[in-house]
Amino acid sequence: MRLILRVVIVGIALTGGLTVMAGQWALVPDRVVDGVSDRPLVGLAVLVEGRRITGLVPVREIPTDFAVIGLPGTTLMPGLINAHEHPLMFDDRYQDAHLSGSSAYKALLGLATLQRLLTHGWTSIRVMGDADVFYGNQDLQRVISEGIFLGPRITGAAHYISITGGGGDINYGSPEQTLIADGLIADGPEEIRKAIRREIKYGSDWIKLLVTGAFLSVGDDPKNVAFSPEELAAAVAEAARHNVPVAAHAHATEGINQAVRAGVRSIEHGSYLTDESIALMVEHGTFYVPTIYIGDYYANTNKLQESDKNDSFYRDYRQSWLEMIGRAHKAGVKIVVGVDLGGYNIPPNVYAREFATLVEAGMSPMASLKAGTSVAADLLGWSDRVGRVQPGLLADLVAFEGNPLEDISVLEQTAFVMKDGLVVKGGLSLEDIAAQSKGRGRPLLSTPISLNPAN
Ligand SMILES: [Zn+2]
Repeated sequence: MRLILRVVIVGIALTGGLTVMAGQWALVPDRVVDGVSDRPLVGLAVLVEGRRITGLVPVREIPTDFAVIGLPGTTLMPGLINAHEHPLMFDDRYQDAHLSGSSAYKALLGLATLQRLLTHGWTSIRVMGDADVFYGNQDLQRVISEGIFLGPRITGAAHYISITGGGGDINYGSPEQTLIADGLIADGPEEIRKAIRREIKYGSDWIKLLVTGAFLSVGDDPKNVAFSPEELAAAVAEAARHNVPVAAHAHATEGINQAVRAGVRSIEHGSYLTDESIALMVEHGTFYVPTIYIGDYYANTNKLQESDKNDSFYRDYRQSWLEMIGRAHKAGVKIVVGVDLGGYNIPPNVYAREFATLVEAGMSPMASLKAGTSVAADLLGWSDRVGRVQPGLLADLVAFEGNPLEDISVLEQTAFVMKDGLVVKGGLSLEDIAAQSKGRGRPLLSTPISLNPAN
């Protein structure tokens, strides 16, 4: 049984109840994994002023006017970054859930999902195209960045761009039907340019391409390459003109290799990775987001319809894929945590199991922690903001009871979460959390994080 965390707040006045001062905190865990060093740091306090980390000092040198939050028994880390997610998915019907939920409904559930993920330590999320014909994710990004609702930092693409008949299309309808696909369908360089311009116009800060078929979509094949080299080149060039990076969903080897050659910033999944793909990724500096755990999750639950499942295939190929991921890491490919589970239906603690699968693939626990913090921040272009416990960076911090370097599963439960210098979990009441936002001009917590006790 887990110990109950003792969050000890000393150094601030306790007159007539707890008054939480916005601003000056000293966090004192047992150890700090800073996202950079190869070993944890001990005997240090992390100083936070306003929304930024301002220092790491020996505990005896904590300035007297800082409120001390004692986090005994914990490991303090940069807030976790999930570089591949679909927060608007609200049930397990991957391809057609969007037909039964409006954009507003999905955004409301998505907010609950995002807040749950925040309290589980995920302070930044890259959305990789979502089950929404409109732009619900961009609205979530907006209300969170405006400080109206509390949630993780959001970046990403509104939709995945797919060819007709590809993984983002609906391929099971009769020709008479006019079902709206959840993906953005584009064929040929001109349509792709227009789709990208539309994505950017409505707030996407990544472009997501379905370069190959997908596993769970009807009517296409993950071993097929969807876009032609001309289409890929047009997509990357158009996005680059707007300074927007491209993420490529790619399973088939040739799709991975073509996307890397075309200059995408990240490869998602990369199921049929080869040594040639690895060499290309090293050469081009491409990030790799394998999203392993989702396969385990669906293979070991009955969440998918029987017709969508291909468990025996997955189990057969999983080991060789993990070996390739380990080889990619060894060769110097920048591997990043992406969970890909998406949505309201998924228990939030299981997202952290992606770290364990990376360890299983041969990464050290420390390397896997970096994959979900500093390396992920590098992928997002946010190294000057988040992903490291360093003075000057934003105070997105999370503490876990125990030591993830010895037992990676401790990441499944957070003891303490701070985002942007605000305590969002760990020893403070909702009123105290709201009180911190004084002076920021807006109520940062407009609603309880979740009313569902199961969450
Ligand atoms: Zn995905």
